[in-house]
Amino acid sequence: MSIHVHTIKTWMSNVFLIEADRGLVLIDAGPPRSERKILERMQKLGRDDLQLIFLTHAHYDHIGSVAALKYHTGAPIAINRIDADALARAETALGSVQGSARFAKMGLPLLEMLMPVPPIQADLLLDHGDRLDDYGLNAQIVHTPGHTLGSSTLLVENRLAFVGDLISMIGEPHAQSRFAVDWRQLAKSLQRLQQLQPEWIYSGHGPQPLSGEAFQQLRGQY
Ligand SMILES: [Zn+2]
Repeated sequence: MSIHVHTIKTWMSNVFLIEADRGLVLIDAGPPRSERKILERMQKLGRDDLQLIFLTHAHYDHIGSVAALKYHTGAPIAINRIDADALARAETALGSVQGSARFAKMGLPLLEMLMPVPPIQADLLLDHGDRLDDYGLNAQIVHTPGHTLGSSTLLVENRLAFVGDLISMIGEPHAQSRFAVDWRQLAKSLQRLQQLQPEWIYSGHGPQPLSGEAFQQLRGQY
């Protein structure tokens, strides 16, 4: 079985489309108004067999287009059960912020007013260790809380880690340093994932994935 990872850059974050023999799996849904770009990518691949939309966490820039994508594809939505309530209420809890993130936190209510996220119920509530084999992908859920309490990594084929906002690739690769509800947990989550030694790490933000070697150098701060 071979898989291909397609990176789709929305106006706020990265979305990943995994192309596997048995179907497509989407990782995150981008901010509002990203659905067209994502659907066009699927059309270009000539595939309409989206099996699942996996959300790494319930933040504005990762869940904003999920309702539209479900409407157009019929694919079920999966998220760690701890973040499911925030998804259902379309609430983005940014927690404590550091540095320039203060401005992002101040601007978010305006963004939410201009381009609201429709609230939506998840179809599949995930826990640590759950697997996605039933959705055509050799992948497991690794709970990596801290950025949000339900933040989770999708570890595909034991080698590709889709980490949401656990790390950022904007500028120098670094552990999440701007938004967290629990900085100590965030640092522990990073260690937890490092122990699994993924080969490539895909962040919700920044231009490219990070090699496993470089990933091992990252340290959380609290
Ligand atoms: Zn986030």
